[in-house]
This record gives sequence, C-alpha cells and structure tokens, in this order.
Amino acid sequence: MASLEEILKNLKDPTEKDIALVRKAYEFAETAHKEQKRFSGDPYFLHLSEVANILANLGTGATTVAAGLLHDSIEDANVAPEIIEKEFGKEICFLVEGVTKLGKLRYRGVERYVESLRKLFVAMAQDLRVLIIKLSDRLHNMRTLQFVRQEKQLRIAKETLEIYAPLAYRLGIRRLNRELEDLAFPYVYPHEYAKVKDLLKYKSKETMAHLEKLRKSIVKGLTKAGITNFHTDYRVKGLYSLYQKLVRKSWNIDAVYDILAIRIIVPTVEDCYRVLGAIHSIWRPLPGRIKDYIAFPRTNGYQSLHTTIFTGAGSIMEIQIRTDEMHTASEYGVVSHFEYKDKFNPKKLVGNSVAWLKQFLPILSFGEKISSNGASSVLSGDVPAWLRELAKVESGSGAHEDFMKEIKADFFKTRVFVFTPKGDVVDLPSDANLIDFAYAIHSDIGDHMAGATVNGKMVALDSILQNGDIVEVIVRDSAKPSKKWLDLAKTTLAKKHIKSSLTKNVPSS
Ligand code: MN
Repeated sequence: MASLEEILKNLKDPTEKDIALVRKAYEFAETAHKEQKRFSGDPYFLHLSEVANILANLGTGATTVAAGLLHDSIEDANVAPEIIEKEFGKEICFLVEGVTKLGKLRYRGVERYVESLRKLFVAMAQDLRVLIIKLSDRLHNMRTLQFVRQEKQLRIAKETLEIYAPLAYRLGIRRLNRELEDLAFPYVYPHEYAKVKDLLKYKSKETMAHLEKLRKSIVKGLTKAGITNFHTDYRVKGLYSLYQKLVRKSWNIDAVYDILAIRIIVPTVEDCYRVLGAIHSIWRPLPGRIKDYIAFPRTNGYQSLHTTIFTGAGSIMEIQIRTDEMHTASEYGVVSHFEYKDKFNPKKLVGNSVAWLKQFLPILSFGEKISSNGASSVLSGDVPAWLRELAKVESGSGAHEDFMKEIKADFFKTRVFVFTPKGDVVDLPSDANLIDFAYAIHSDIGDHMAGATVNGKMVALDSILQNGDIVEVIVRDSAKPSKKWLDLAKTTLAKKHIKSSLTKNVPSS
C-alpha cells in the first residue's frame, strides 16, 4: 500500500492546493472502497494507492494523481459521477468517467484489427490523461495478476501485450511499456519465456563481467580524450523484447549484441557526437550497426546514438549515447514533457512521440475538450502546453475539416466497432446493420432475434450501426428470420445462416 506521504513525496513541486487535492482524494477513495477486497485478500484501496503512486512517479500532476485515486469509485464503489463532480470538480469527474468507459472495452483476440482497436482505444479515451491512468491501472493489475482466476489471466495478459503495452510504446513511455510486456510475457508464452530465461542464465554472467571491464575502460578513454562531463549507466534488455529479437535471429543468442548495453549520458547533443568519435577511435565498431536516432528519431520519439563495438576481449557490446533530456524522454515519453509546461516549443516536436498521437488531435483532448466543430472548452489543469499548442495549430489551420475526414477515412472506413452490453468488441463492415451483428455473435442469436436496442433504444433491424454503439439483441424462441432479411443483411455470414434457416423452416408440403 502506498501511503499518502509517499505519493505526496513523488509529486513534482506540488502547491498547497495540489497537496490538499491529493489528500482529499486519498481519503475519499479509502472510505468509498472500505468494504471491498482485492482477489489477493488485500483491501481494495491498496490498488488505488498504488495506481496513484505509479502516476506520481511518472511525473503527472496532482489532478491526474487524484483521478487515479478515484478511478474505480464509479464502477466498483457505486459513487455517483455527480458526487465526484461536486467534491472534485468537472475535470476530475471527466477523467474518472473516461477511465470507467475505457474499462468496459474488452479485447477478445481479433488480431487482424488489433491496430484499429488501439486507435479506437485512444479515440475513446478522449484525453491523454485518461490513457495514462488506464495504463497505470493495468500495470498494477498485471503486478498482481497471480491472484486472478486462471482463465481470466490469459485474456488480461494477452490484452496487455497487444493493446496496452504497444500503446505505452507509442506514447514513448518505455518504462511502462517494458514492465507491461515483461509481466504479460510468461502468461501468454510460458514455454518461450522459460526458454529465454534459460538462455539468458548462461549468457548473462559472462556478459556482466565484460560490461564492468568495458565500462571502466570507457571512463578512462573518454577522460583521456578530454571529455569529463558525463556519466555511465547500463540497461538490461527486457525479456519480452529479447524474445522478439531471438525469434528474428533464429534463437541464436550470440547474435544478439544488446542484451546488456552501456549508456553514456552527456549534457548536449554535440557531446553525444564527440563521445561517439572518441569511442570509435579507441574501439572498432561493427559495420552497419551505427545508428543515429538523434538526427533520425524513431517513430515513437526515441533519440540516442547507438553503436556496437568489438571490445577487444573477444566480446561485442552495444553503447548508447544520449543527453539527459533524451534519457528522460525515452523513459517517460509524453509524460516527460508535462514538466516543460511553459518553456517547451512545440515546433521541436517534429518526429517526436506526438507523431503517432497527432492523428488523434481532433478527437483527443489534452485537458481541453475539443468539440467536433473545433471549438474548445477549457478544462485546464496539468496539461502540457506543447500539446495544447499543437491542438490549436491543427484545429485553427482550416485544414481541420479535411484532417478530420482523413482520420475517419483512415481507420473507420471499412470497419465499424460496436459493443455487446458486456463490452465485447464486435467489428463489422461499415454498412452493417443489426441482423449482421446478431449473426456475428452466434447463428442462434441471429435465428431467434425478435428485436434489438442500440444504446438502450429500440431500433429497426436494418438500422446501420455506428462506431461505439452498444447493441443488445432481444431473443425469443419463436422468432425466426423472414425472407426480407436476405436483402437487408450485408455480410455473407448472415446471408448464409438466413438461407439455411429459411430452408429449414419451410413446411414440407
Ligand atoms: Mn482499477
């Protein structure tokens, strides 16, 4: 259980108001969830305090931390949203409701559309902070997954690996991405996990010894070259990331050079290139493995210089060179920019973590709710200014309408995603109606559909479904398809079942 003191300590430069807010949310959540327990037998509140602490550690502001404390109070403690709004204001209520809504979204392994689902997830989140709370929530749930029923473990772990971890990666939050992957890995691929661990056991002892020796030589070499303002560090490759690489390298662990990597961290970009020069003048680099992610950042914004060298002791080692700022950004991604609130220049963000995020700007708010007509109603709070700037640029540029169309064309053109009342996602062709939906669930449901509701309202069976609709089919034993359905149905699956049902139901004369 994270104590209030610990959470407060992890807040970055909190004001009196911030402290009072987090304290109030902490006490509110503790009372609201008093009667509940986790599967582990721990008080439910433990989960909320841990999620809040993960958020504070990531560097989000007090508003997000408070929302993290309250994130399950609507769904699990039956607190009315009106009460949260009254006690904590519109903004926090908006965040908590956003997290609640996302929690209803379930992933049932439709791999082909997994990328669309990630996008739908972001679109539904509506606010970057909702996503970050949801990721932190998932991280704590993964840390305690051993207490969950076995048949649920696999679903949750798979969803983590295919939706949550990639989202953390896209947002550049490597710290969350790595831990989510490594926690899910043994549940989803138990055999592969065991194999990787075994391989690593034999490999890491010798590698660690090489690393320490090389690190000392580097310090000596750089000092000799007149470079003194730097510090070194190393990183161990995540198990899941190592697994993915091993698959690419036909399981030859000797062909993976970056199980351990030495990091050299310097103040400026110029220093990075100077260090690279100095290293190459002492050790011979492996051809083709020098990567300049400073001039050419990765799509998620990652920046660093990478080189792999022959250490001279018969081993090969990867070296990563970067500035402190790049280092923080690579671990915390979009969250790391929260602190640059006032001094950050959004123009610097070309090719940065926002590249992927940018496509969502018309539908995603960053503390400001941007409505479809481009007008924004300010919710303020701990919103990174650079994102606010970007949002303004996009919405005020006149290209907004086209941009909006483009987005819709891009990911909602061919498929529509609708939900069962339980939150399962069903994806259908974009012109599908309720008949197609019923048959997509099960042929029996289709064959006995008497009616259906969309978002709680009765509608005609040929109503075309919209993204995000919650659809409930009303089934009656005596109900059966009519001939007209054949013309109404859009999917071949539905048509096929209707035909066979019609033949079955024809009384033999
Ligand atoms: Mn939760």
